[in-house]
Amino acid sequence: MSGDPTGAAPRRLRVAIDGPSGAGKSTVARALAKALGYTYLDTGAMYRALAATAMSQGIAADDEEALGRLARTLRFRFEPGPAGGQRVFVDGRDVTNEIRSSAVGMAASAVSALPAVRAALTGEQRRLGEGGGVVMEGRDIGTVVFPDAEVKFYLDAAPDERGRRRLRDLEARGESPSLGEVRRDIAKRDHQDSTRALAPLRPADDAVRIDSTRMGVDEVVQEMRRVVRERE
Ligand code: C5P
Repeated sequence: MSGDPTGAAPRRLRVAIDGPSGAGKSTVARALAKALGYTYLDTGAMYRALAATAMSQGIAADDEEALGRLARTLRFRFEPGPAGGQRVFVDGRDVTNEIRSSAVGMAASAVSALPAVRAALTGEQRRLGEGGGVVMEGRDIGTVVFPDAEVKFYLDAAPDERGRRRLRDLEARGESPSLGEVRRDIAKRDHQDSTRALAPLRPADDAVRIDSTRMGVDEVVQEMRRVVRERE
């Protein structure tokens, strides 16, 4: 519902949610999209799908030419999945589960630093989100993909809490790393993602910052809905 007294239909906005790994972006982005009747788009899944495909084809994580070519030719398809999630297909192959491993997460962080890869996937993300009515989560949505997005959030949480959340995700898919290993992986990925030359992870100047360390999912989503409603 918009607060517009004329009764005009609310605008369908582009909502960007950026932040580091384990901050809770996917969970709240899915719930927010559902509450607003928007499309949910997980841009990290695209970098992960590219990395997983490159691994399966024996392409090295620093072979920019081959990775750029792959990024330009892969066909991504997203379908609604259970619990408001989404299934991810590349060239018709369902990669939803395989892209969630910690190994693929690390590889995604490496390939995502390459300019040819970012150029291809950023273009695809703009195409997917340009019509509005989307909640897009990633690292550079509010800074690079849609610097003019109507609503931008930067979601963060204390590193210990992010480690615990990521550990729960990995355990749910049958991996059993120690909390120490997960924390180290997160710290490495944070470092790579925020120090790269191109589209580093950082809050946009006009992003609404939310620290979810001591907040439940519902609380974060409520706060986000309040901000979105003000701008519809
Ligand atoms: O969010 P997720 O952990 O699935 O992202 C995997 C990796 O993809 C990140 O560590 C980051 O390096 C990269 N990524 C990115 N830009 C985005 C989304 C993800 O560079 N918009």
